[in-house]
Parts: sequence; structure tokens; C-alpha cells
Amino acid sequence: MPRKRTLSARTLHTLRVLLERERERIRETQESLRRDLRALAEAHGEENGYGTHLADVSSDTLQQEVLQAEIQRLEEESARVQEALQRLQEGTYGSCVDCGRPIPVKRLRALPTALRDATCQRAYDARAQAPPTPSPLGRFPRPLVTPEPEPRPTPREEE
Ligand SMILES: [Zn+2]
Repeated sequence: MPRKRTLSARTLHTLRVLLERERERIRETQESLRRDLRALAEAHGEENGYGTHLADVSSDTLQQEVLQAEIQRLEEESARVQEALQRLQEGTYGSCVDCGRPIPVKRLRALPTALRDATCQRAYDARAQAPPTPSPLGRFPRPLVTPEPEPRPTPREEE
């Protein structure tokens, strides 16, 4: 595991296009968020010395943290897309990294970065979702920094 997976050239092409489009979308979103972050930092800098209210500063800081967390999340997403493209290249794409069974094409089309079939993913999520860390922002269902989602290279699954 992971075993080689035979997908039709047409399906592989479609999935590659989806992944490349996704990579582009992430890159553009990150750029736009970084612009927002810069604008926020600049506005913040200009206000300094002009009697900024403490409340404004902390709400700006919070906004900056939210933006940074989102950029970080996209970074992880981008790494997943990159890995999926790598797997496509190597021919291991489309096999579940846990049980080695083929991931249904329908699932891959909906979620081209899927590493597992739905059953194994649910089991994985259940393991990964150890007691959720309460977020100070209250709007993120999961901790801002999620644990490394990638499987270990060993074929055996750890308990
Ligand atoms: Zn599986």
C-alpha cells in the first residue's frame, strides 16, 4: 500500500485539471488575503500616533489573526493538492492510503485531494478529532492549526 491504481487516461486528465485549477484558486485567494493583511497593517501603522483607540487596535489584531489563520489553512490545502498531483505523477493516485482499495471516481471528482475512501476517512477523522481545542475566536469548528493530515509512510496503521 498504496497500490498502483489504473484510472483511464481521460479520468486522470480530468482530475489533473481539477487539481491544477484548485491550486490556482488557492494561490489567488492567498494573494488576496495577503493584500488584505498588508492593507490592515498599513492602516494600523497610519493610525499610530493619531490617537488610536485601544478597542480598534485589538479588533484589528483579531482580524489579522483570522487572516493569518486562513492563509495558513490554505497553505495546508495547497500542500494536499501538491501531494495529489505528485501521486498522479507516481501512479499511486486514487488508492486509499489506509486500506489500499480504489477510491470511487465519483469521490475523487468531488474531492480530488482525497487520500482515503469515505469509510476510512470517517475512521481517520474520528481518530484525529481528539478533544477539540476551544477556539478563542469561536467561529472555527476545529483548532486553527490542524494536526498533520498525511499518513505515515509505513504500511501498518498505528493505533
Ligand atoms: Zn480505505
